[in-house]
Amino acid sequence: MNKLTSVKFLNESFPKTIDVLNSSPVYDAQIKEEKVNLIKKLLKEKDAKIIAHYYTHADVQEVAELTGGNVSDSLEMAKFGANQSSKMLIVAGVRFMGETAKILNPEKKVLMPTLKAECSLDLNCPANDLLEFRKKYPDRQLVVYANTSADVKAMADWVVTSSIAVKLIEYLNKQKIKIIWAPDKHLGGYLNDKTNANMKLWNASCIVHEEFKASSLLKLIKENKDAAVLVHPESPKEVIKLADIVGSTSQLISACKNLPNKKMIVATDNRIFYKMQKAAPTKILIEAPTGGRGATCISCAHCPWMAMNNLDNLIETLVEEKNEIIINEDVRKKAFISTNKMIEFAKTL
Ligand code: SF4
Repeated sequence: MNKLTSVKFLNESFPKTIDVLNSSPVYDAQIKEEKVNLIKKLLKEKDAKIIAHYYTHADVQEVAELTGGNVSDSLEMAKFGANQSSKMLIVAGVRFMGETAKILNPEKKVLMPTLKAECSLDLNCPANDLLEFRKKYPDRQLVVYANTSADVKAMADWVVTSSIAVKLIEYLNKQKIKIIWAPDKHLGGYLNDKTNANMKLWNASCIVHEEFKASSLLKLIKENKDAAVLVHPESPKEVIKLADIVGSTSQLISACKNLPNKKMIVATDNRIFYKMQKAAPTKILIEAPTGGRGATCISCAHCPWMAMNNLDNLIETLVEEKNEIIINEDVRKKAFISTNKMIEFAKTL
């Protein structure tokens, strides 16, 4: 059963409350099969491919895999879209991912199961405010995380995802290029610690990773001394300090597979368990603790916007060809330069 819940932004600079679906529908096996078969048929008719993020519901990831689509992190999603000959891309994730697909593929129709799926990092980094921040540091280049709008990408010198952020900041730092980083303060702080780049940081965070709690994680580690701790760098510094591996979603999945530990404590959106369990079926996956419902926890280790993608709105989108991503062409061309630089840089690694 779908449940509507309200998400209130903690960042007072951007007070906004939104209603989101906090869980995807659960279908019985036969109904699910009918929906999946319909999606297969529609994808063929429309010459479309699904690109889904690891944080979407397992049903969505499964149907993307079954139909020759892609399930991956932001960088791989962008690369996959750019390498497809199909006329239409259905991006199951959050809005900036749909925009990235359109930035890189202007000739393709890019649709999303819902345009209401946002990201707290994107929402808390409006282009006008970032422009003012940038003016304070005219001698610095602007590097933005992929979790930003097309407008922000259009004004950036570089776009980067968490999977290659350390490498890019090291590369720029070696050339003595001074940097402004936006929007994730935790990832920015982690990058500063790793690279000594001394970047100026924008102040925004991910509402999901912000909730992981170091004190309860430490308790869980003590109870599971044989477990490896996998942490996404959007998490607070105190949580990152407790990690055995800090990495992007793809890097955490690889670590889960390759580390010798049988147990994994995982501090990122728990929908990643679908792919982790496929990559490492014998491993025991344990969610890192959040504040818990009724305490300060809002999303409880699950992105409420990613949860808005499901088989029903995938079908509706395909049938009606609705929720199209449209970007002003001037903005798209500028955003293409910084986004494509990321793709080209990734090829050098
Ligand atoms: S998990 Fe966090 S960073 Fe990812 S889309 Fe959701 S709010 Fe944004």
